Amino acid sequence: MAETGLNRAKEICQDRAVSARELKAGGRKIIGYLDIFPVLEMMTALDLVPYRLLGDINEPITRADTCLPTVVCPFLRSVMDLGLKGKYDFLDGVVMAHGCEVSEKTAHIWRIYLDPPYAHFLDTPHTTHPSARQQFKALLKYFKETLEVFTGKELSTEKLREAIRIHNRQRALVRELYHLRKPDPPLVSGVETVQVLIALASLPVAEGNELLRQVIGEVKQRKNGPPGKPARLMVWGSIIDNTALIDLMESIGANVVMDDTSLGSRAYFPPVEPTDDPLDGLAHRYLVALNSPRTFRETILNKINKKDYLTDLENRFGYLKDYAREWSVNGVILQVLRYCDIHGYEVPGLSDYLDHIGLPGIYLEHDYGKAALAQLRTRVQAFLEIIG
Ligand code: SF4
Repeated sequence: MAETGLNRAKEICQDRAVSARELKAGGRKIIGYLDIFPVLEMMTALDLVPYRLLGDINEPITRADTCLPTVVCPFLRSVMDLGLKGKYDFLDGVVMAHGCEVSEKTAHIWRIYLDPPYAHFLDTPHTTHPSARQQFKALLKYFKETLEVFTGKELSTEKLREAIRIHNRQRALVRELYHLRKPDPPLVSGVETVQVLIALASLPVAEGNELLRQVIGEVKQRKNGPPGKPARLMVWGSIIDNTALIDLMESIGANVVMDDTSLGSRAYFPPVEPTDDPLDGLAHRYLVALNSPRTFRETILNKINKKDYLTDLENRFGYLKDYAREWSVNGVILQVLRYCDIHGYEVPGLSDYLDHIGLPGIYLEHDYGKAALAQLRTRVQAFLEIIG
C-alpha cells in the first residue's frame, strides 16, 4: 500500500498501540486521557504525549466486570477491560476528568486497580457561572503543579502559549478537513474521517498536524473520492471510537458528512482564545466553549426570564441547525450507547427540536460490538428510504 496520509491514518487506526510503543521506545512519556476535558496543552507543553483512551469493539469485555458495574456504558467498560488486560501498559500516567458520573468513578477505579506512576483526576464543574470558571482555573493550576512534580520541569507561560498555538493549529486543520465534507459528493468519507480522528488521538500533536496536512492535500487532489449518495447524515451522541457504525451507514446508501460527538467536532471546534494569562483562555475553552450535554449552561432564557420550551430547545440545539445548513444534512442519527444517560436524557428534547426545524432524525440505542451494530442495519435502511 502506497504511503499516503489516509493510508497512514488507517494503519494507525488498525493498531493504535504500535505508534505509542514506538514513541515510548524513543524515550517519550505517554499520558492516557479520557474524554475532552483534560487540558492537552499542559501535557504537550511539558513534552508529554497526550494519548486518548479508547475502547476496542473487537475485544470481548471479560475483565472489567470485576470492578465496574454492568450498568456502566460499554465504552468505559471496554476501556477499563483493556487497561486490566495490560493493553495500555505503555502509559506513564493517566488524566481523567468529571465528564459524566461513571467516568468520574472510572477515574478512581483505574487509579486503585492499575496504580499508574502518575494519575490525576481533573474535577470539572457542571456549570459555567463566573464562580465555576474561577474554580476551574484554580483546578487547572493544581493540575499544572502535579504535572510539574511528575516531570520535574517547570511549565512556563511561554511553553504553555506555544502548546496552545500548536493545538489551535490542529483544531483549524480538523475544521479544514470537515469543510471538505461539505461538497456533494463529499471529498472525504465519514469512515476516512473517523480513521484520521483516531490517528490524531494516538499521536503527538505536531505529528498529528503533519498527518492532517498530508490528508488534506491528498483529498483535495484525488479523483476517486466517495460517491455521492441521496442521504447526507449528521451523527449525534455518544462517543464513536471505531469505524463500524459509520461504515454500516455508508455501505447502505448514505454519506456521513457531519458529527456532533466527542472524538469528532466537539473535541476540536472551539479554539483557545488568546488571554493575558493563558490559564484564563484554557479555562474558558474547556469549561465554557466546549459543547457537551454534560454541562449546564446559563442561557438567554435565564437572563430574560423567558421560559417557553422552543426557546429552550433553540438555546440548547441551535448550533445543530447551523451544522445541518452548512453541511447540507438531510437526516440526523441520534445514537446513544446503552446506559449513557448524559446523551439519553437529551434525546426527547433533541427529537422535538428536529421535528420543529423539519429535519428527520432516528434514535438508535446500541451496545458496543459489531454483532449489536448489525441489528441496526434494517432500521438505518428504513430511515434512509424515508429521507432518500
Ligand atoms: S459514552 Fe456516555 S456514559 Fe459513556 S463515558 Fe461517554 S458520556 Fe459517559
